[in-house]
Amino acid sequence: MTAQSSAPRTRSGPKTAPRKSGPVEIPQVLTVKDLADLTDTTPVEIIKRLMTNGIMAAQNQAIDFDTAAAVVTGMGMEPVPAEAAREDKADEDEFVDPPESLVVRPPVVTVLGHVDHGKTSLLDAIRKSRVAAGEAGGITQHIGAYQVSRNEKLITFIDTPGHAAFTAMRARGAQVTDIAILVVAADDGVMPQTIEAINHVKAAEVPMIVAINKIDLEQANPDRVKTQLTEHSVVIEEYGGDVIAVPVSAQTGQGIEDLLEAIILVSEVEEFKANPNREANGAVIEAELSPTRGATATFLVKGGTLRQGDAVVVGDISGKIKAMFDDQGNRIREAPPSAPVELIGLNAVPEAGDKFRVVKDEKTARQIVETGRRQREQTEQHARTHVGLDTVYSEIASGTLKELVLIIKADVQGSAEALRSSLEQLSTSEVRVKVIHTATGPVSDSDVMLAEASNGIIIAFNTRVDPSARKQAETSGVEVRSYNIIYQALEAIEQALQGMYEPVYEPRVDGHAEVRQLFKSSRLGTIAGSYVTDGTIRRQALVRVLRGKEELANTRCTGLKRFQDDVREVQSGYECGVTLDDFDKFEEGDILEFYHQERVN
Ligand code: GDP
Repeated sequence: MTAQSSAPRTRSGPKTAPRKSGPVEIPQVLTVKDLADLTDTTPVEIIKRLMTNGIMAAQNQAIDFDTAAAVVTGMGMEPVPAEAAREDKADEDEFVDPPESLVVRPPVVTVLGHVDHGKTSLLDAIRKSRVAAGEAGGITQHIGAYQVSRNEKLITFIDTPGHAAFTAMRARGAQVTDIAILVVAADDGVMPQTIEAINHVKAAEVPMIVAINKIDLEQANPDRVKTQLTEHSVVIEEYGGDVIAVPVSAQTGQGIEDLLEAIILVSEVEEFKANPNREANGAVIEAELSPTRGATATFLVKGGTLRQGDAVVVGDISGKIKAMFDDQGNRIREAPPSAPVELIGLNAVPEAGDKFRVVKDEKTARQIVETGRRQREQTEQHARTHVGLDTVYSEIASGTLKELVLIIKADVQGSAEALRSSLEQLSTSEVRVKVIHTATGPVSDSDVMLAEASNGIIIAFNTRVDPSARKQAETSGVEVRSYNIIYQALEAIEQALQGMYEPVYEPRVDGHAEVRQLFKSSRLGTIAGSYVTDGTIRRQALVRVLRGKEELANTRCTGLKRFQDDVREVQSGYECGVTLDDFDKFEEGDILEFYHQERVN
């Protein structure tokens, strides 16, 4: 943990009172003061111990479990994760099921492909094939996923086709898809979104089956589709590869049975398994607020068995399952692995892609949610866990990164290809440069999602970034680097790989204020009563104090007040009180130049 503000200066206080015996239960995140309470000591004592570990923290600052545990150990006590922390650690990836507990489960299938190639029609046709097969019920409710059986083997289909949904789920950490069906219309052939879908599936490392659709059409040309796919490294069995291609017609139903057969075949090879005999975990497929039933959500069970009455944690939300329904609207009490279920009983509406897991009881669920919320509030930096050019080298050095994943968008295909091959040649024995997607056009939401899901960086060459993609990149911490000269892009990546990449920042002035009156405060020193002459000034901004041509200080604004109230910003034409870090020798007439540093490479 790194704390920005420095610790209050401490006098050597009284030595601490008798400490607790026995293990100390520590939550995932806690403040210095919380830790002092837990260990029956003073915040000052904790601060001192943190300082000897090289960590500066004030008493209300948050520290994480590992930091707290080190302090506790240093005090001769035994740190253990608190109940909520233990539960919180039991993330999906940490369910380690013993091999003997695993049994075969149905595959989960997602349908992808270019617009209008028949994804929705295919999902409908498959759903209807069950009615034709004379299965009970048959009238499916739309809950976001459904199951069909073929020779008594179940298959789960995700009902939202397309790679945007597919990768959005992955970006949120929920890898639900086991098999991807790539739909290509036999009359239209491979199109831009077909290629996008191929790259998204490859990045997810999910097996693919090609459905060559619309073969009922006269102009259908399946052979052309097969050749085109080969050009994009999807080599079907007939051509010596390992991808099954099935000719189908969503319109006439021709080939649907063969497609289902192919899915079963692939799942038998892949052997998808889960342990049904534990508390369930999985992901949210879709969710909404129903006017009559409250928050409803469709869960896809990944492991374990979900039961009515279970207490669950879903992202930021807790709840207790009041009732569950299958994809035909039947009330059910249990849902095994790979089953989609619609349920009610959550305290709010989760987001598609959120992971869920069953916990001991509702109280534990609430505690976990609360701990998670605090953790996010106090770290606030979660976005920065994503790879960036300035962190590539250290991540390689520490072994957390083995390949640098790039997505290239360019104005024309020629430059995209040129960049791809030059960038890939920068691979070294330590790290491989892997370009997972190249395309022409602006950087889109789907590119950002792919980068997020694959821990990659986006290179925009001579092309713009869609505003919504820019926003999404900012929130998710995905780095988008724009270049218009090839060697500059190459140089940046090369330097990043060698640990020599130095981000360049330039100051950008936000506004000026003129000091007009001085106020003394016993607590804050001298406050500069100022008038904002242009722009907008912000608390926490960098500030230069100018007197004539002389620069008296270059520091940070620590306080901004309008009358008695603390404010975040003040616009041109208004008066305010300004305090600065480590400077208060203002004089009337001083100019305060507010600025921030902006990254320019
Ligand atoms: P999506 O955008 O990929 O979901 O495509 P849709 O399922 O909405 O289908 C696009 C259009 O193609 C619709 O007009 C469908 O009726 C038509 N279509 C889909 N599958 C077939 C097929 O197998 N044969 C024919 N002739 N038309 C199809």
